Amino acid sequence: NGKMKVGDIAIEMGIKATQLIKALMTNGVMGNVNSDLDFDTIALIVPEFGWEAQNTFKTADEIVVETAFGNLEAELVIRPPVVTVMGHVDHGKTSLLDAIRNARVASGEAGGITQHIGAYSVTTEDGSLITFLDTPGHEAFTAMRARGANATDIAIIVVAADDGMMPQTAEAISHAKAAGVPIIVAVNKMDKPGANPDRIKQQLTELEIVPEEWGGSTIFCEVSALKRTGIPELLENIKLLAEVAELKANPEKSGSGLVIEAKLEKGKGPVATILVKDGHVNVGDYIVAGSMKGKVKSLTNDKGERVDTVTPGLPVEVLGLEGVPAAGDRFDVVVDERTAEEVVGVRKEQAMAENTQKKMSLEDMFSKVTQ
Ligand code: GDP
Ligand code: MG
Repeated sequence: NGKMKVGDIAIEMGIKATQLIKALMTNGVMGNVNSDLDFDTIALIVPEFGWEAQNTFKTADEIVVETAFGNLEAELVIRPPVVTVMGHVDHGKTSLLDAIRNARVASGEAGGITQHIGAYSVTTEDGSLITFLDTPGHEAFTAMRARGANATDIAIIVVAADDGMMPQTAEAISHAKAAGVPIIVAVNKMDKPGANPDRIKQQLTELEIVPEEWGGSTIFCEVSALKRTGIPELLENIKLLAEVAELKANPEKSGSGLVIEAKLEKGKGPVATILVKDGHVNVGDYIVAGSMKGKVKSLTNDKGERVDTVTPGLPVEVLGLEGVPAAGDRFDVVVDERTAEEVVGVRKEQAMAENTQKKMSLEDMFSKVTQ
């Protein structure tokens, strides 16, 4: 915000506070030694004393970006895509996420079903990874978007083949479109007798979601989450879209990304699942998530294994934060505790300023109403 107290400005310029207060009064600004002046007022008044004001205030986001460390010039590498599953209730979002997760178990990877950390990664046939956010429904998606966070790279819209397009299908599509996230349509429940994928293609065409085979650009995959059919093809198509998107990250710099979910757990304290979008996170790193800070005590991957480090595109459960951040909050590894404190301080101040603003506009409204 760049505010400063009258008294401090006077000291800075080596003049008496009364001189400054007088000058302010001449300019129509009333105040005392303890009054906060905003940057514009400061910039206006200090030239009268032969000074020039410079706004050195930095937002929390600016601080974390500017203090990023590690090999900042390292070559970028392809990172796993992050995928969200959205669609109408009962069309099979949860079942599809389970089917994909279990495909991993079937392929011999350990621990698929046991650990739940809000996101998981699967290995495709060529060994590349795809990360799925395990919070179906567009609520999580919208909540994150409202905070300016774009967790996902690709949206899968699930539509039940025996039911067709529904209000939440259309809503999910408009959310994905608004976020500029590419869409794959998973036509689910293909095992059902009444399954009619052509009708769904027809319906979605009205929303300008036109299948490739009809000259459009959207991939439609026919699956059955129940019978576990069509899953490898779905994963293959996600991979193709990810390749087009060229999702790259620098794994050698300090990590940053998003909080997917966080809660207070008995005996563990604050537990946060984070998604690393860039850089890496190590045990022992100082991190800031929203307005919470901490030192990483442990990292647990989606298979329930303790790890020392996490690379881009992967989810991990973090212990060591001093409080519970909100889903959608940004997180950053910072260079030391002092920086962590600074960032948290600025975020809290920012939040307070926003609250005051809200309160003030509410009061304005009331005064207008009561007038
Ligand atoms: P969500 O509300 O979108 O998460 O939907 P669910 O995954 O909870 O599924 C809703 C219902 O549809 C459940 O009873 C599932 O067993 C059923 N279901 C999901 N996928 C399939 C499928 O591929 N075939 C059939 N026949 N039923 C399915
Ligand atoms: Mg569900």
